[in-house]
Amino acid sequence: MADAFDFGTRATPAIRALTAYDPGHDIPALRLRFADRGGLLELGSNENAYGPSPSARAAAQAALAQLHRYPDPAGKALKAAIARLHGVREEQVLLGNGSHELLMQLAQVFSAPGEDIVASRYCFAVYPIAAQAAGARLVLAEAFGEQAGMPLGHDLEALAAAVTPATKLVFFANPNNPTGTWFDTEALADFLAKIPPEVLVVADEAYIEYATDPALSSAMALRTCFPNLVVARTFSKAYGLAGLRAGYLVADASVVRAMEPVRESFNLNAMALAAAEAALADSAHLDAVRRGNAAERARLATALRNLGLAVLPSQTNFLLVRFGSGTAALEQALFTRGVILRPMAGYGLGHYLRVTVATPAENERLLAALREVLA
Ligand SMILES: *Cc1c(COP(=O)(O)O)cnc(C)c1O
Repeated sequence: MADAFDFGTRATPAIRALTAYDPGHDIPALRLRFADRGGLLELGSNENAYGPSPSARAAAQAALAQLHRYPDPAGKALKAAIARLHGVREEQVLLGNGSHELLMQLAQVFSAPGEDIVASRYCFAVYPIAAQAAGARLVLAEAFGEQAGMPLGHDLEALAAAVTPATKLVFFANPNNPTGTWFDTEALADFLAKIPPEVLVVADEAYIEYATDPALSSAMALRTCFPNLVVARTFSKAYGLAGLRAGYLVADASVVRAMEPVRESFNLNAMALAAAEAALADSAHLDAVRRGNAAERARLATALRNLGLAVLPSQTNFLLVRFGSGTAALEQALFTRGVILRPMAGYGLGHYLRVTVATPAENERLLAALREVLA
């Protein structure tokens, strides 16, 4: 029987205009389909193919013994570990059920209808959703074109020029998803000097642990000069805990205080709190992930270029690859072989696919499938 009434019409105008975040594919269904055909090769979501620290896994398992208890609502132990890592006070740290949640909350708390959120073309898809959900206007600065020095990278001058008295927040990821491109720390400092000190600038550093370019370091060090800088981090990528959902931001204590009331009291579950804390303590594992990824990122990029493909430079655990006008057909051909890449049409990059850098064996399987499909 048809629904009698569409309650969606009762949603706020801002929410009605929203399209949900598109995760790319129905992965659980595809896993089943390819279970007896060599398994699915999941290279669409920038997950960490090396997995988390063994001690993080053990900590999550130990937390299972207390599943009937609520987790620590303040996440005190994890917050303290994060504060120590970055040399900040605990009041400057806010925990999120993934950093996605924090990006949404930033927009919710600091912007409203009639106000602007500034981001760049080819920005992470969550920023437009966060702006729209808050009813704010998203202003997109132009990025570099395909011909420019860093093709498709953010143009910080254009980003700064897009900031007006109506601007409440600026969002960018460095390095950026989905392009993998980055700007160095000096350029970021110059950019911050142009932004009015009351406008919050959110540096989303979801991939910063993967960066190997010495010119690119975390914006965290710039926070002392620029109190309006908010740095967002996640345990989903280099720490390999995407399944648990844990992220955080470091900001001025007044930013954290303003956001705290909208945070759900138990937003991080007990396993996530325990595993994230253990993951932070295992810097050897993080180093191994970083080294393994850097080597495979270089090797895979070279192999793809040898296949005649254009590959954007990347400081992340993924590569943006130009497949040209045959992209959709190629993606489909890989798909039927159980190889999942991320289609980019939603980003206005229909001639590109985003490829997660995985383990050597997985990358080999991708290359073999690509050679077959391209032949
Ligand atoms: C993956 C990613 C995140 C992290 O998302 P979580 O919610 O922490 O899993 C944030 N920003 C960008 C740009 C990302 O690619």
